[in-house]
Amino acid sequence: MGIIEKMRLDGKAIYVTGGASGIGKSVATALAEAGADVAIVDINLEGAEAVAKEIADATGSKTIAIRCDVTNQEDVEAMVAEVAGTYGKLDACFNNAGICLNVPAEEMTFEQWNKVININLNGVFLCATAAGRVMLKQGYGSIINTASMSGHIVNVPQPQCAYNASKAGVSMLTKSLAIEWAKKGVRVNCISPGYIGTDLTLNSEALKPLIEQWNAMAPMGRLGRPEELQSIVVYLAGDTSSFTTGSDIIVDGAFTCF
Ligand code: NAP
Repeated sequence: MGIIEKMRLDGKAIYVTGGASGIGKSVATALAEAGADVAIVDINLEGAEAVAKEIADATGSKTIAIRCDVTNQEDVEAMVAEVAGTYGKLDACFNNAGICLNVPAEEMTFEQWNKVININLNGVFLCATAAGRVMLKQGYGSIINTASMSGHIVNVPQPQCAYNASKAGVSMLTKSLAIEWAKKGVRVNCISPGYIGTDLTLNSEALKPLIEQWNAMAPMGRLGRPEELQSIVVYLAGDTSSFTTGSDIIVDGAFTCF
């Protein structure tokens, strides 16, 4: 079998959080194109249902849509049970839901701080450990989390201390779980995207004026596109990445290189 065939995900069951838009939607589409059955998980059920239908129509993947707030432990446990129950197993997951708030630290309320940490870091902890429990029982599984280049550098000029701290936390949580589960068949990795053109960046009134500044700082002179993250997640979800665990893969057009 050639390498491209080995990278296929036929028959694998995978859920994607934040699957209704942006990076999650794009990656979920690629996972299905590679042969996986994909559960689209989002706080926005209508959006998740539309994406699940679109992907099923385009690829023949057995998709389902699930409403889940990743900060709610009951929601997360029920979501993982539904995915594993529907497909009979859970091969991989992409814990990707996240938000960003740009507020100067001295003006940031504790509520705002907690909102970002809850979705971006606590949400990944709840999802990764719920999925991990299923995968540890199976003796196999691949967990992929979305961190960010913001876990590696402080983005400027916008003030986003909670976001940066949450993403550094996702990176270290990923490595910690990878070590704990390395001998048990469960791999844990994260991706750290640079600026990507999605709702989070393009449809935020606060961020719009900054895009030109980011592009001026970017070695490639542009934002990334969601589809430029697809293949790395397909790789991490599949069997050819069997020796890749505890990795934080930066995909940022060299933004963090200087
Ligand atoms: P996006 O287009 O805003 O998508 C995020 C999705 O997550 C939305 O569908 C959102 O639903 C959903 N969501 C929000 N809160 C949730 C919750 N509590 N439970 C479940 N789902 C929830 O953003 P994106 O740009 O694709 O970002 C995806 C991930 O990549 C995030 O973790 C982000 O931090 C990370 N990232 C993005 C960039 C970038 O430049 N875009 C760069 C590095 C890392 P609603 O729209 O209904 O709120």
